[in-house]
Amino acid sequence: YRVKKSGGGYGFFRAVHDRRTPEETEVLAALHKAVEEKELFLQYQPIVRSSDQVVVSHEALLRWTRPDGVAMPAAFIPVAESSGLIVPIGRWVLEEATRAVQLGLLDKVAVNVSAKEFAHPSFVRNVEETLARVGLDPARLTLEIKEGSLLDLVRAPEVLGALRSLGLQLALDDFGMGLTSLTVLSALPLDVVKLDRSFIARVGDGSEAGGRAIRLVRSVVQLAGSLGFRTVAEGVETRLQAQLLKNAGCTHLQGYLFGRPGALGDVLPGESKLVSALS
Ligand code: C2E
Ligand code: MG
Ligand code: MG
Ligand code: MG
Repeated sequence: YRVKKSGGGYGFFRAVHDRRTPEETEVLAALHKAVEEKELFLQYQPIVRSSDQVVVSHEALLRWTRPDGVAMPAAFIPVAESSGLIVPIGRWVLEEATRAVQLGLLDKVAVNVSAKEFAHPSFVRNVEETLARVGLDPARLTLEIKEGSLLDLVRAPEVLGALRSLGLQLALDDFGMGLTSLTVLSALPLDVVKLDRSFIARVGDGSEAGGRAIRLVRSVVQLAGSLGFRTVAEGVETRLQAQLLKNAGCTHLQGYLFGRPGALGDVLPGESKLVSALS
């Protein structure tokens, strides 16, 4: 399942007035080649249910093999977004991740969607076609969409509605970073709200700010719960954080405490589901 080669159809270099530094131009050229030469791969990080720490899903996270090591998303996603190259890359990610589930290598998967992909006119159709081609039960897929992607797009509620009617799950990613008003949040057809790591980082650090952070988390979680949304706290690194977040009502937790992003081979569904960190 190769990424379609550049035919100009995705407009990789369309944004001619984007001002790029020489470094960005170089990354973009190399990334374009990376897509064709299969240098991209996915790692998967567990998401656990807070009540019993059972792994219920995994988030797919993109990586890029470079001559000097593995590049992380922060180093190349921004330029992939501004150039439009994220669209074919995102299609590859979705296909790769859903196939892993279909093959029985994962129970469920969450896939990140960039603003550019979300706004693309054929995004919903592509998701539908991919699910059909792979033969995946849509209920096993969650799409993670960042707050910012929604604010930029007037037809965001409509796109979310269309995606949800395919039967998949929708998560609002990095919540707390942007300025989504509670009114907007309550009007969106969502299943999950993911509390941003920057929110969680302070929790349990013993400081006054940490105390405020957990109170803030508690009210956001209560609100999300009253709207019928599940809540995932990202970036959980300590047992104390896990305990406080569970007490605050977060339904799910994700972070290095439960597992770092890893290769598929290290992710065995049905086995060792109880996370050793908390057992
Ligand atoms: P995200 O979706 O919020 O993903 C969570 C990020 O937090 C990941 O970084 C993950 O490795 C990291 N993380 C998870 N637990 C912990 C923890 O306990 N401590 C710390 N310090 N970090 C933790 P990563 O893999 O570098 O990805 C960064 C961002 O890149 C993601 O943020 C997502 O926005 C984007 N991204 C990753 N893969 C894709 C993709 O396939 N497509 C798109 N469009 N964006 C992607
Ligand atoms: Mg995410
Ligand atoms: Mg996130
Ligand atoms: Mg985040």
